[in-house]
Amino acid sequence: MTSTPAFAAPRAGAPLARTTIERRDLRPDDVRIDVAYAGICHSDIHQVKEEWGGSIFPMVPGHEIAGTVAEVGPEVTAYQVGDRVGVGCMVNSCGECEYCRAGTEQFCTKGNVQTYNGTDYDGAVTYGGYSRQIVVRDAFVCGIPDGLALDVAAPLLCAGITTYSPLHHWGAGEGKKVAVVGLGGLGHMGVKIAAALGAEVTVLSQSLKKQEDGLRLGATDYYATGDEGTFRTLRGRFDLILNTVSAPLPMDAYLSTLRVGGAMVNVGAPPEALGVNVFSLLGGNKVLAGSMIGGIPETQQMLEFCAEHQVGAEVEVIGADDINSAYDRVENSDVRYRFVIDTSTID
Ligand code: NAP
Ligand code: ZN
Repeated sequence: MTSTPAFAAPRAGAPLARTTIERRDLRPDDVRIDVAYAGICHSDIHQVKEEWGGSIFPMVPGHEIAGTVAEVGPEVTAYQVGDRVGVGCMVNSCGECEYCRAGTEQFCTKGNVQTYNGTDYDGAVTYGGYSRQIVVRDAFVCGIPDGLALDVAAPLLCAGITTYSPLHHWGAGEGKKVAVVGLGGLGHMGVKIAAALGAEVTVLSQSLKKQEDGLRLGATDYYATGDEGTFRTLRGRFDLILNTVSAPLPMDAYLSTLRVGGAMVNVGAPPEALGVNVFSLLGGNKVLAGSMIGGIPETQQMLEFCAEHQVGAEVEVIGADDINSAYDRVENSDVRYRFVIDTSTID
């Protein structure tokens, strides 16, 4: 075992504080990574506050990890010391079920192992990226293309793939009108990726405060959902809605903005149920869908796409001492647009 400094929540809702954790000795197919940056995802906050239930403490969050390879096990062929790499939301899966074989490890029938707040198949609790080093099976490590700096690449490992996958799946591209709901970490990546795919992008935000940013990121239209008349104006407009909001929304109002046959895909993960009137779906053969991160092959594909189109996250790099105040700001929709921890400040 190797000790590494980390930031952890000792119990549900408690502030994160410095601690030391152990990383396992390298197995033949393991990669030891010096973490350079770790993004703060709203899922970290949901889990630290135990809003989804079943949290394991102490918890070292962090599933948007970018760094360099420090050491590899003898069977690792894909990576060498010094390579620039990333790790997202998963660190293991069975590798044998139909979903793993299809490269959609997030749906592994044995249950994939989450990067943190999870239990690996050997019984070890997993600890995430708010730490100096992490040890991960090579199959769950992605290569970060040269064209992407590590700080702006880190959020791609969750926010990037979580928006790329459904945008790709639901055909966002030329001639398609896509609405992105919520201009936070996921939302701003959704706007950038949908625009890079060639879609016409509209942001639906609580207010017009971030309108200038939304247009700079690639949207052509921007509406405040709190404004009188917005939903009337947008009736029947969109082919696709990507909902990234961390709280429940009035679904029927959003569904009314879809064209016939349009789809509303939910990636936001509030603990509360979403209420929907079935007639909002029947009138217009509309689709209400969900999407969970993306598999490892698609994550690598997303990274190549982002490098080719020069799409990185808009980040505010912080030191570890600012993690707790950053959590408050994320919860207050005061993030522009992803906090990324410089892990060299965890010492
Ligand atoms: P975030 O940075 O906090 O962004 C969420 C945005 O939603 C906010 O910036 C805000 O945008 C809007 N919003 C927040 N509260 C709202 C409310 N009460 N009503 C209307 N809009 C509200 O969070 P994130 O990191 O992007 O994550 C978003 C959600 O996705 C979280 O629930 C997270 O757990 C989930 N998630 C899911 C997956 C998946 O695989 N499906 C992966 C990662 C994260 P405006 O200020 O523009 O309104
Ligand atoms: Zn995440």
